[in-house]
Order: sequence, then structure tokens, then C-alpha cells
Amino acid sequence: MRILLTNDDGIHAEGLRALAEVAAEFGTVKVVAPDRERSACGHSMTMRDPLRVKAVNYQGGLEAYEVNGVPVDCVNVGLTLAWPDGCDLVLSGINNGPNMGFDVTYSGTVAGAMEGCINGIRSVAMSMALFADGAPLHYATAQAWLREHFSWLATCPLQPLTFLNVNVPAIDLPELRGTRVVEMGKRVYEDRVEMRQDPWGRPYYWQGGVVIVDAREPGTDVSATSQGFVSVTPISLNWTATAQMPALEHSLPHHAGRTP
Ligand code: MN
Repeated sequence: MRILLTNDDGIHAEGLRALAEVAAEFGTVKVVAPDRERSACGHSMTMRDPLRVKAVNYQGGLEAYEVNGVPVDCVNVGLTLAWPDGCDLVLSGINNGPNMGFDVTYSGTVAGAMEGCINGIRSVAMSMALFADGAPLHYATAQAWLREHFSWLATCPLQPLTFLNVNVPAIDLPELRGTRVVEMGKRVYEDRVEMRQDPWGRPYYWQGGVVIVDAREPGTDVSATSQGFVSVTPISLNWTATAQMPALEHSLPHHAGRTP
């Protein structure tokens, strides 16, 4: 199996190393990742600057490249340079924090998998669902889960233009209760933008905010991981709200120039 790895925490991230270690047990792994952390870059791509690529020494002697770009750039450079004839699997992660609910749209980790999917390759994003700053990330739990589910991830039924978003709770392996296939939940932020003052009294703004997680909504990634389950969410690239189309069509103002 030909596997392309990327992430948004940068090529030196511990989570990427943890992912590479397991993936190398199942196929030929090539790593193409940003040269620094690019978290929350979403599905952006670099268009107005040249992409520089540098081969780097990587654990286990794996072929690896760092790119001065974002995960989307890395996947596309990877499919040009590392796997010019294509590959069978794109893995993105393991992110050092959760990527659930609406955060999926901000996530560079998820964007890496999305770009693999757009290229017609089975793709999986993986993140550690950690909710307390500074708590241990437990990558070993994700590694154990990945070993057990690698073949499933590579072969499970998945429609075209769909990829998988996986969140592993940051807990010890014996505490892991299983796996749930669930919907995207809601992650809503309170006090999203904070106004501060610089030493000269000029205001500046810092975006972050406190996330309000509603873990009570059942059947979501948020509730599954908070109960100790690995969440697996299939995400479709077709964002069309198909069910709303007839009502929208029906509500259109009458076109005066045409007789019904
Ligand atoms: Mn990240």
C-alpha cells in the first residue's frame, strides 16, 4: 500500500511521527508536511508564492519532505514529487487537539484529508480529542487504535468524494470504550474576539475564545469522544443542502418575462 502522510502541526510534530510509525507497518510511507506549524489554516492553498521543498531525514529512514506551505500544498506537492503515479491512502495528523463540529472547517488537518479526497484517494484525518490544556495527549492510544483499524480504514465502504474524520479521546488505552460512527457535532465559541491594548494604548484583537461544547447532543463526535469512544465521521465534499432545494426553488420570485 502506497501511503502519503501530512499534517498541520509541522514535519517535526510528535503526532506525525506517531502516525508514521504505525503506517509504516502497513505499507510504503512517504511524508510531506509543512516546515512549521500551520494549524487553523483550513483548506487554503498557496498560489502567489513559490513552494520550496526540502528532503529531510526522518525516523525509520522514511522518504520525507518539508514544504513552506499548508497541508493542501503538501498533498499536491506529495502527489507530484513523492507519489507521481498516485497513492492508495492519504493520512493527515495526528493533530495535537480535537477537530470536531464546525472546527472541521478551520482545520488544516482535515483539509489535508479533504485534498487527498479531491484527488480521488481514500483519505483519513486523525486528531487527539484533548480538552484540557497541558494534559497528556496519549498518542499511544491512537497508535493502538490505528493498528487495530488500519485495514478497516483502508477498505471500509466509502462513497466517492467522501473522507473520514477520526478523533481519538486523549485517555489511556484501557479506558478506551470502543468506536462510534457519528455525525459532526457543534462547537460554538463564546467571547470569540478579545480586545486588548498594546503598550501605547492602541487596541488590538486576539481571536480564540472559550469553546462551548455541548456533549449532550447524542450521536455526535463531541459526545462520543467525551464518553471515551473514538469518533469516526464520514464527511462529504458535496456541501449542497439537497433537502432544501425544492422549497428554495418554489420560493423564487415569479419571472415576469416568461409565461408559465
Ligand atoms: Mn494542528
